[in-house]
Amino acid sequence: MAWMCNKCKVEVEEVDDIQLFFKDLSLPEATGYRCPQCGVEYIDSEFVVDQLSAAEQMLEGK
Ligand SMILES: [Zn+2]
Repeated sequence: MAWMCNKCKVEVEEVDDIQLFFKDLSLPEATGYRCPQCGVEYIDSEFVVDQLSAAEQMLEGK
């Protein structure tokens, strides 16, 4: 299923270099989608949850 940009109504491109931030924490680059026209980025929310819980575990393990 192709994702569409809500604004431009064009198909977004799959990319793997989306930069995520959680509070002041910089997370590893994520796979997601970027609109080739306006540059808005979409990410798989499940992937984000995984990344955030991994980051939380890292912090708790300190
Ligand atoms: Zn767009």
